[in-house]
Amino acid sequence: MDTTLAARFPFLRSASEFADQNNVDIESLLTSEGYAVARKRGLQRVLDAIDSHIVSEVPLRSEYDKLMEALSYPYARMIVSMIDDRFLTKRYALAEGTKMYELLKGSPQFVLTISQELDVRATAETDDRVSIPFPNYLRYACVLKAVEWKLINSDVKNGYVRLEKEKLSRLLQTALQERIESELPLNIPEEFKRPLQKDADTASMLLAETKNRLSPTGGKGMDPACLPPCIRTILANAQNGMNLPHSARFALVTFLHALGVDYDGIIALFSQSPDFDESKSSYQIKHITGELSGTDGYTPPECSTMKTNGICFQPDELCARETVNHPLTYYRIKSGNYTRRPETKE
Ligand code: SF4
Repeated sequence: MDTTLAARFPFLRSASEFADQNNVDIESLLTSEGYAVARKRGLQRVLDAIDSHIVSEVPLRSEYDKLMEALSYPYARMIVSMIDDRFLTKRYALAEGTKMYELLKGSPQFVLTISQELDVRATAETDDRVSIPFPNYLRYACVLKAVEWKLINSDVKNGYVRLEKEKLSRLLQTALQERIESELPLNIPEEFKRPLQKDADTASMLLAETKNRLSPTGGKGMDPACLPPCIRTILANAQNGMNLPHSARFALVTFLHALGVDYDGIIALFSQSPDFDESKSSYQIKHITGELSGTDGYTPPECSTMKTNGICFQPDELCARETVNHPLTYYRIKSGNYTRRPETKE
């Protein structure tokens, strides 16, 4: 068995086999002093995910180091499952996916193995190029926005897309993220929760602090004085009982949701509209905010879309700044919570 491979890519089946060969069961991983290093590293994986979008590297000097690294992965997944927060799950999946992508840049020889395991099913064409079934390409490339991923720019032949290993690595990142998000949360039995609790609490505290920091409001609640002119106008129209076009309702609900305004707060605004229909508005709001689908919901439209929809009302001097390409960016700057975060990726 290639134990370095199992440690570096601990989501592979060989990592579980590595643990089995060493007779590690979940109970001993959670409680035995002999696996304290794996638990510490598992917590670090989660903290890295919250803090910096990528799981950090550790040196693997011995078989012991490799075993601890491989075991840290299931431990991290249990912490994430204990907390069971969608933002954390996505962030953790991103951090593991990004780490794998960075590792593959230096170790392209593992690309095909990982591709088979993640069911992307790439086959070698040359040393540098591979081909993958067309549906698999579409499935994972559709979330990548850069123009190079558009099908029209791909090399398609006989139902396969041919591409460089480096590009396949990027698709594998998406595939791994999707897999982790679909697998978590794990069902944690009651008897395992107690030994996980302390590390779950540590991660939860950093998570809460990070969410506040990333929130457009800095976790302080919405400040009406910081609203951009477009949202201020739409909000005033809603409060004055005017009928809003769908694009304006959508922009308002997604924007307020991004600022942390809850369902009751949003429905209270719409209740002043003359065509207010509680069941219809309730469905629309829950759909837009993701409450019905159990997702994060939709993100607010950026300025270019607002302009196209004719709802970029009375842009002011701040709107004219180059950095303002999104109403949330406007809010962040005005409220002093701007950290150069591209809103379209929120
Ligand atoms: S430029 Fe952007 S933030 Fe300013 S009013 Fe228009 S849509 Fe709103």
